Amino acid sequence: MKKTLLLLSLVAAPALAGEGKWTPQQVLELDPAWLKAQGLQVPPKRLWDPKRGTGLLAGTVNVGGCSGAFIAESGLIITNHHCVFSIIQEHSSPKKDLITDGFLAKGREQELPGKGSRVQVPRAFTDVTKEMLAAVPAGADDLARYKALDRKEKELVAECEKRPATRCKVASFEGGLQFVLQESVELADVRLVYAPPNAVGEYGGEEDNWMWPRHTGDFSIIRAYTAPDGASAAYNSQNVPYKAEFFFPLATEGVKPDDFVMVLGYPGITYRALLAEEMAERQARSYPRVIDVYGELIRIMEEEGAKDPAGKIAVASHLKGLHNRYKNLGGQLAGLKRGRIVEKQREAEAAVATWAEKRKEYQGAMKARAELLALQAEKSKAFEREFLLDTVRGAVKGPALAVQVARLSQERAKPDLERRPEFMDRELARLKEKLEREQKNLFAPADKRMLLALVRRAQGLGEGERIAAIDKTFGRTYAEKDVATKIDALYAATQVLDLAERQKMAGETEAQLRARKDPLLDFGFELATEVVALDEQRDRRAGASVRLLPEWRRAVLGHAGKPVAPDANGTLRVSFAKVKGYTPRDGAFYTPQTTLAGVVEKHTGQEPFDVPDKVLSAAEARRYGPWLDKRLKDVPVAFLADADTTGGNSGSPTVNGKGQLVGVNFDRVWENVANDFGYNPDVARNINVDVRYVLWLLDQVEDADGLLRELGVRKGPKAEERR
Ligand code: ASP
Repeated sequence: MKKTLLLLSLVAAPALAGEGKWTPQQVLELDPAWLKAQGLQVPPKRLWDPKRGTGLLAGTVNVGGCSGAFIAESGLIITNHHCVFSIIQEHSSPKKDLITDGFLAKGREQELPGKGSRVQVPRAFTDVTKEMLAAVPAGADDLARYKALDRKEKELVAECEKRPATRCKVASFEGGLQFVLQESVELADVRLVYAPPNAVGEYGGEEDNWMWPRHTGDFSIIRAYTAPDGASAAYNSQNVPYKAEFFFPLATEGVKPDDFVMVLGYPGITYRALLAEEMAERQARSYPRVIDVYGELIRIMEEEGAKDPAGKIAVASHLKGLHNRYKNLGGQLAGLKRGRIVEKQREAEAAVATWAEKRKEYQGAMKARAELLALQAEKSKAFEREFLLDTVRGAVKGPALAVQVARLSQERAKPDLERRPEFMDRELARLKEKLEREQKNLFAPADKRMLLALVRRAQGLGEGERIAAIDKTFGRTYAEKDVATKIDALYAATQVLDLAERQKMAGETEAQLRARKDPLLDFGFELATEVVALDEQRDRRAGASVRLLPEWRRAVLGHAGKPVAPDANGTLRVSFAKVKGYTPRDGAFYTPQTTLAGVVEKHTGQEPFDVPDKVLSAAEARRYGPWLDKRLKDVPVAFLADADTTGGNSGSPTVNGKGQLVGVNFDRVWENVANDFGYNPDVARNINVDVRYVLWLLDQVEDADGLLRELGVRKGPKAEERR
């Protein structure tokens, strides 16, 4: 337990105000006087009461990898438009194009269910470090260590999920220095209530993505439902709105520069604990390769989508994700260079090493670091092949579905606790939904060209890096016509892309699937063999990492001598911040707020700057209603803060010191994308939709009377009575 205590027991103030994605437990251990001085007006205990598993943080929910927040007792949740894009897409067709037009449910009966959408409400966090570590047998090698931890994790999760409608996971902190079991209530009936038109929700598109000044209304409103008795239940027309014990009332007065805010949410993954060498590898090698490959896939999807309106809708969601990642990686590279992040990490590491060398209790750290570097060299060698294999079975829908069906048949034959986590019984319903939902994303012309492009790259790999499944199916050397003909044949003869057949396949054994002699499925089985081998290699590496990294991190934390927030790992975190502008480059200063005037100024009438008429006319007529900011003399649209956020923080509630919602986090500025590797207070800025823009749209543009009443914002006579 000594190790764990080191991570938790430093009751003090952090070095930099904005730095740190603090765990709920850490928030309670930070100096309350410091928190108060920052601007927190409620007692920290109001944020989270670990005994009861309640507090304001319980109003912060996980929306399928994004974050979100209850904003009314009646189950209303605000999150980002881009986080519920798949629900909007699911209900869109060229005739009824909700992506373009947006959507407002006029009554509850009109709300649109999202297939497979779920929301998780946090309930408890339990330190399980002792149990996890005790599960590793003495003398275990790296693979055995990984397997023992994996097994223990599954057992803890299974035990935890015995409670109905409960989702649990074991999160590892500081590379395995601490393990925490996180327990949430899962709500399985989620419906779309309001989505702005795409030209608002994604205003500025890829051009403005990761940029400031920003004028995007990236928010949507959904509602969680339960069975009439309050129990979590799948969609049913008899279901009733979830009753939220904690929610964030809207702060209709908004924010101004220098105001204190907190961003609450589920940041996905950051890399600040990597060794400098590992960061350098990403900078010099892996990120440029990913950019190169994604760039090609994006181009293919855009070209093919442009030829067919239904194809354009089918690829929309996937394309959006790839674009986002593609531009993000460019920002990471620029930021790594500009912020000299690798060099700084090298210096920091050297300081830790000098400090640790002199201390007996940290001798293991130096050896661990040397071994971590060797592990990194091994990973680096395998990168090219592994990345291509991952992309073929991840980004190209045909092979991806075939591999999934193939792997499902193999894994289902094993006892539940011995399967890979993604094929355990607890995942099967999701997996089946995904196999179904993917139908909307299928567009064979784009898919086939993407596969062609990746086969070409795979056939160019050197000896020792070959992907046997590709060699076997397409030959060892690239001849475009020949490969294209083979791909055509795979797609023409397969039933994997047929929804009903695919659903049948999901219930068949490996022997039954192989007997189908379906060529795409057979390719899927070939790929599955490679995937299994790769998974095992990765498990072994993970076992090595969990043996080594905690040793090194113990030294890093000991050297720091102050609270350090761990890297993001998808668990609930809090970041404390101020509303603040910044200097993006020499001689320029960005103010922290944008307004409607800026929305109008950017309007060109062409995508991605094509403001919908109803928005444009209200803005041009200066129909501000009560949402005018007197200081700005306009309605605020977005604002900056110096919160420490990353991917997964999308949809995070941004709240004031009283715990009221002032905005919704949706992005970071270009200069700050590389904060995944290191926090730089000069440019660390996250981007939020201002709550007053949300309210202005609902009020002055949409006249969303019922919704505004539910939010407690509109009182007085009802809309129909006013007319
Ligand atoms: N846009 C991001 C997301 O999708 C948020 C971020 O990376 O800052 O989660």
